[in-house]
Amino acid sequence: MNITELRVVSIDLPRREVRTPQRHPSWALEAEVANPMSRYAKVKRHRSLWLPKWESAWVKVTTEDGTWGLGTLNFAPVLAPVVEHLASQLVGEPCLAIDKLADMMVRLTKPYGSTGLASYAVSAVDLALWDLKGKLLEQPAYSLLGGPQKDRIFCYATGNDVDWYKELGFRAFKLACPYGPADGLDGIQRNEAFVAEARETIGDEAELMLDCWMAFDVDYTVRLAEALRPYRLRWMEECLIPEDLDGHIALRARLPWQTLATGEHWYTSVPFQWALHHGVVDILQPDINWCGGLTTCRRIAAAAGAAGISVILHGGGVTPFGQHFTYATPAAPWCEVFVGSPPGVPLEEAARLPGQTVPRDGWLVPSDAPGFGLEILEDWIHPYL
Ligand SMILES: [Mg+2]
Repeated sequence: MNITELRVVSIDLPRREVRTPQRHPSWALEAEVANPMSRYAKVKRHRSLWLPKWESAWVKVTTEDGTWGLGTLNFAPVLAPVVEHLASQLVGEPCLAIDKLADMMVRLTKPYGSTGLASYAVSAVDLALWDLKGKLLEQPAYSLLGGPQKDRIFCYATGNDVDWYKELGFRAFKLACPYGPADGLDGIQRNEAFVAEARETIGDEAELMLDCWMAFDVDYTVRLAEALRPYRLRWMEECLIPEDLDGHIALRARLPWQTLATGEHWYTSVPFQWALHHGVVDILQPDINWCGGLTTCRRIAAAAGAAGISVILHGGGVTPFGQHFTYATPAAPWCEVFVGSPPGVPLEEAARLPGQTVPRDGWLVPSDAPGFGLEILEDWIHPYL
């Protein structure tokens, strides 16, 4: 069965009806989060002041009998030509030969770089191919990976409305760190007060993590980690600029006692293999929509599992793609559930995609419908303009 069409599409998803009134706006709207641009005063207050406004779309892959699969495509306005380039070589290829197609895509993107933007396009095509395979074989994607490895997935909540996540039943929480090197000693003290308050809210029987979103350097990370040691962070995440490889080695040497996690802005399996080889982190966090898709995540998990290292996908619980991978993968013990919806509104009402399941009491089981279980009708799909 060969690929007959591979294209970027828009999907008119039904409007979500939020019936429950919010208690107050989500933390995500206004909270300051330390980031790589925090040193520039004009954009320091909020990430939305500098992040690109490129919208998301989808990749649709179709095969000879008309069966189709979908993957989400970030940064669609700049990536439509890359998908077109990939399509020029993938149309006519056997749709079930996913390892071959993933290998082709990494090599096809070589002249303009396989990491960064191109990797988002490769991921979208790869996920569409797995969705297609599931539909052709009438199996959920996790069954294509061998079947469930766990009864249900333990989820942690990301965001700063911690009391709301606790009420929802979560037992593990990750905060977005507000301050960084630009805020000096005062910022370290305010970060400590922020983490102390969260620890007080969740108590000693829950896990607490801190996401540092590429905002720090080695020295700042060490100073902050030492200040936060009394609060027993399960891990500190993405403290450094992802390309600073020497920095990762230096940080490991200076913080042997602190569990470190990173990887959401690493692309292809190569940096993960490097991290395993050099022992720089304890937990790898690829993003299945960014690093190359399910095929690349499988490859990373195989290497990590062999090395005794965990893979906890970035945002894995908020997409059916990450849910299916985690459900089937022994090296992936947890899922991340980013909560940007307002406190008071049930997660079911805030869910983004039809067919996507949401955690209950901090646990999640993916849909058992074919592919990734997306309940999207063909009528809703249009060419991307
Ligand atoms: Mg993160």
